[in-house]
Amino acid sequence: MAGRLEGKVAVVTGGVSGIGLGTVELFVGEGAKVVAADIQDEKGAMLEQRFPGQVRYAHCDVTAEAEIAAAVQLAASEFGGLDVLFNNAGISDMMRTLAEVEADRWSWVFDILVRGPALGMKHAAPLMAERGGGSIVNTASIAGLQAGWGPLAYSSAKAAVIHMSRCAAAQLSPQKIRVNAICPGLIATSIFGASLGLPRAVADQMAARVAENAPKAQPIPKAGMPEDIARAALYLASDDSAFVTGTHVVVDGGITIGGRHSWDPAAASPL
Ligand code: NAD
Repeated sequence: MAGRLEGKVAVVTGGVSGIGLGTVELFVGEGAKVVAADIQDEKGAMLEQRFPGQVRYAHCDVTAEAEIAAAVQLAASEFGGLDVLFNNAGISDMMRTLAEVEADRWSWVFDILVRGPALGMKHAAPLMAERGGGSIVNTASIAGLQAGWGPLAYSSAKAAVIHMSRCAAAQLSPQKIRVNAICPGLIATSIFGASLGLPRAVADQMAARVAENAPKAQPIPKAGMPEDIARAALYLASDDSAFVTGTHVVVDGGITIGGRHSWDPAAASPL
């Protein structure tokens, strides 16, 4: 059976770790050719070796427009065009309160989380239009929907990503380019520790702790994993979502539904 992305070409930013890596693996498994764009060159080289002919790594800091343009162009030169862009690269920050806000740091967070995806869409859209359309998926967060799930700049940036996705969907519809956002809940990746400036090994331990503890607060009592988000990205990237644009998909185990959930977190998972 043909994969759901057979013949498609995708660019995934933040593609060598966590949610991005899980998405690259799933997209390749579904028949896509993928450019993984990131700043961790060693991991990028390893990824290329794992998937020869299917994955190319592009060193791409999403704060640098020229590097975004080059990553997108690599999809065209290497694989013949572009159908899917997953704007997923991200960091977090430590500015939990207004009193802690630092102007430069605030700009840095917004440059990565909002300006990066905006520039990605700017450079990807013309290539997608050449192929008769495409799909753009932007990683937002439940922190962009409700207060209290993340630091201040991060949460504000993620809210901006959700609305920017709507605006871009409206603008790009004449070119048959769909734009949607995904709002992950608590997913076990290194971002938690990494955003605190901790070494990767410690960050990975923190991710494991999130995986352990998140179920205690959410109706679906299991750890959110990168592949849970990758499957949502696959849905939005593929023709399965052909009638879906300008919206956001929440993938959070139900943690944002509010109220008291009825499942006893100590009990065995019903799923
Ligand atoms: P992660 O740290 O595993 O992955 C993030 C990736 O982005 C890394 O590979 C990192 O090198 C890359 N990156 C960071 N800065 C970059 C830059 N300037 N240019 C290019 N690449 C850069 O974390 P993750 O959890 O997989 O994060 C992926 C996305 O998911 C982020 O946008 C994050 O905000 C979002 N998200 C994560 C969670 C969660 O619980 N893990 C929840 C909601 C949203």
